[in-house]
Amino acid sequence: MEISEIKEKDKKINAFIAFNEKFKSEEEKLKGNLTNRGKLEGLKIGVKSNMNVSGLKITCASKTLENYVSFYDATVVERVKRSHGLIVGMTNMDEFACGSSGETSYFNPTQNPSAPGHIPGGSSSGSAAAVAAGFVDCALGSDTGGSIRNPASHCGIVGFKPTYGAVSRYGLIDLAMSLDQIGPMARDVKTAALLLEVIAGQDGKDATCLNLDKNFYAFHKNLDGNLKNLKFGYAKEFDELISDAGIKNVIHKGIDKISSAGGEIVNVSLPDLNIALPTYYLNVYVEFFSATRKLDGRRYGYKIEDVCGEEVLRRIILGKFISQKENAGRYYRKAIMARTLLKKEISEIFTNIDILLSPTVPKLPHKIGEKISDPRVMYAYDIFTVLANLAGIPAGVVPAGKIEGIPTGLQFMGKALDDQKVLNAMYGFENL
Ligand code: GLN
Repeated sequence: MEISEIKEKDKKINAFIAFNEKFKSEEEKLKGNLTNRGKLEGLKIGVKSNMNVSGLKITCASKTLENYVSFYDATVVERVKRSHGLIVGMTNMDEFACGSSGETSYFNPTQNPSAPGHIPGGSSSGSAAAVAAGFVDCALGSDTGGSIRNPASHCGIVGFKPTYGAVSRYGLIDLAMSLDQIGPMARDVKTAALLLEVIAGQDGKDATCLNLDKNFYAFHKNLDGNLKNLKFGYAKEFDELISDAGIKNVIHKGIDKISSAGGEIVNVSLPDLNIALPTYYLNVYVEFFSATRKLDGRRYGYKIEDVCGEEVLRRIILGKFISQKENAGRYYRKAIMARTLLKKEISEIFTNIDILLSPTVPKLPHKIGEKISDPRVMYAYDIFTVLANLAGIPAGVVPAGKIEGIPTGLQFMGKALDDQKVLNAMYGFENL
């Protein structure tokens, strides 16, 4: 699709907040360079508006940063450029990545190209929609509690959150830095693995970034879709939390397909699943509060509390409250303990299985404009996705089927550093 056509069509979808006005010249320049072609070879890429791209507006979909033009490239962006990926623009998102629907953006919600009239999911709403609409070949998203996987599921695309530390976070504007990871979104597993291969790897600018063997990062090269010899687990607690019978049906059909293809399916249990959401949100509130202290209006744009939306403000107020000295030990320490417990429970599951399967979201995307006034209803979208962030493990989503035309994805999780195994299982499933 030509850039002019993307711009025209995006008037309806609103996947982009800002376009790269140098796109055409960058494309021409690349066409002229026939030798030395990078791995992304002119693929069109969308970048979520919380990653720095030099010369573009990095707003985090907030009024706070509406005029912030970045002066440097995030490590992932630098690597995309070095591999000859072409950045189309900055995608829409929930404000500061706080949300599961894409509706908290200061720049208005994004439409779901695969389910018109419905939310695309969030917070990487624009990245998912840009991929689903065919505007880009792939996109970068960030995932703190499901923000890559949730919109991938709702838009019928592939999304992957790597092991914590596999991809540099340098140049990503934090939501909660102990949970945030950047990852790829694409229409198929192969392209997602390719983008991941390009962006992953050690980075001296991010101390949490791992330094692993070169072969670990060859995700595209090592893709192998053989499902035989893999042991898949499914927790009985998952079914109790799916609020839509259609989703349950699609997920179980997916599991049956994996079984018919030779994958072994076993039942596992996650008895403490019910504490995952409060654990996640308490961690996020505190880390987000801390991350936003630099947004005081002196250096960048406005003071965040003066101009932000309701959900961002809620998190700042609660994060501040929890962090108060008088509350020491009451909430945050408990949340950290709960996180350790869940992490242990999840890692024990992987002593007996290779891949943990689950639904991605427990319900279908609501209609744009449908008012959800209780934040807990919005938070409930995240129950299956926060687990991977709390445990730091890799997790990806592949379209599994549709319910009255609305896509839903099957989630694949693996133990830390088993990113390749997870991608392989996703690839195998995609080709069934
Ligand atoms: N929906 C979750 C939240 O609002 C996850 C967001 C994310 O992954 N960035 O925090």
